[in-house]
Amino acid sequence: MVTFARSDTTMTLSEQITSAVRSVIGTNPAALHEPLFEGDEEKLTRECVETGWVSSVGKFVDAFERGLAEYTGASHAIAVTNGTAALHVALVAAGVGRSDEVLVPALTFIGTVNPIAYCGATPHFIDSLPNAPEIDIEALEAYLDGILELRGGSAFNKSTGARLAAILPVHVFGHPVDMDHLADISERYKIPVIEDAAEAMGSTYKGRHAGTFGLLGTLSFNGNKIITTGGGGAVLTNDADLARRIKHLSTTARVAHRMEFIHDMVGYNYRMPNINAALGVAQLRNINNFVLRKRILADRYAAVIEKIPAVRLLREGNDTQSNYWLQTLILDEEIADQRDQVLSALNDAGYGARPVWRLMHTLPMFESSPRMDLSGAEGMAARIVNIPSGPALVQL
Ligand SMILES: *Cc1c(COP(=O)(O)O)cnc(C)c1O
Repeated sequence: MVTFARSDTTMTLSEQITSAVRSVIGTNPAALHEPLFEGDEEKLTRECVETGWVSSVGKFVDAFERGLAEYTGASHAIAVTNGTAALHVALVAAGVGRSDEVLVPALTFIGTVNPIAYCGATPHFIDSLPNAPEIDIEALEAYLDGILELRGGSAFNKSTGARLAAILPVHVFGHPVDMDHLADISERYKIPVIEDAAEAMGSTYKGRHAGTFGLLGTLSFNGNKIITTGGGGAVLTNDADLARRIKHLSTTARVAHRMEFIHDMVGYNYRMPNINAALGVAQLRNINNFVLRKRILADRYAAVIEKIPAVRLLREGNDTQSNYWLQTLILDEEIADQRDQVLSALNDAGYGARPVWRLMHTLPMFESSPRMDLSGAEGMAARIVNIPSGPALVQL
């Protein structure tokens, strides 16, 4: 019998990567990230429909908030309509306002940066490491030394005069940032940390859950995240006053009254509906199972990808446990020009592969925002390929 198997050396890079992915997840098409419903999702959402408690009142919102606090170790969790709203209300509660600047990575999803603009503040972009998508804290430190001045207990940008009101790190693809190092900077420069942990449910740094280090942290439960509520988000905090303020702000600032509608400030209608929270309660029961599957998937991908020269799978850093939300290939610089061919080949084979987001400072609405040197982020963004990552790709 004649076979036409080609040796690895004659395969193009795209063929090698596609064949490596196929060897791990099989030949069926696979999206970038799909939710998995194997528990009480149907039962609990049906209960909402049958009882009529589908909207802004019901027991599942409280249950989901308690479950989130318990799982993450945060003292308080406030469930809201999505991760973008969670960041918005967190920034408002932290006092970020007009003419402030917020330090934020250029390499992130738009949902991190839009809420800064909603507050009338300006994003001030920070760089990524040369070899990983997360922020380069050492470079940030050197940069802040040059641009920052402390006045009356707050940090100001010497060249724009704006207050540096917050730093908003992102645990990109579920890999936690070095929070000890960031906490040093936050303390020294008097800039509060608000963590965008939208991608990091189930990830820890030194054993502590992502999103619980800063003054505030936020999560997302969009359909492509680690657990989903359809659409949803949450704010985490250990500060009881902030928790109360966020609850108030996200529920139209309504003052409790038996019959009357009274509101004492401009609030937001960001409360998570009960039917979404029901889905969340069911999903949360399976989160350890999802994270385990995703970690196994990372090991399987790593084993085949490491055989391909000049490509690696992003692994978790020291002191961290990653949920591996999105599995991430990083091409070496010398083959970066083949990224789009790799993406096309994977998609042609039925695999949902994606490049990383367009860098935020290149988008028209943020083109003139202040920034540090962003060569790390630019280098990284050109070399990332995310590959199918959903929990269903591993059978336990
Ligand atoms: C998903 C995501 C958000 C926003 O969450 P939504 O629920 O989609 O509004 C914010 N930041 C990051 C990094 C995300 O991945």
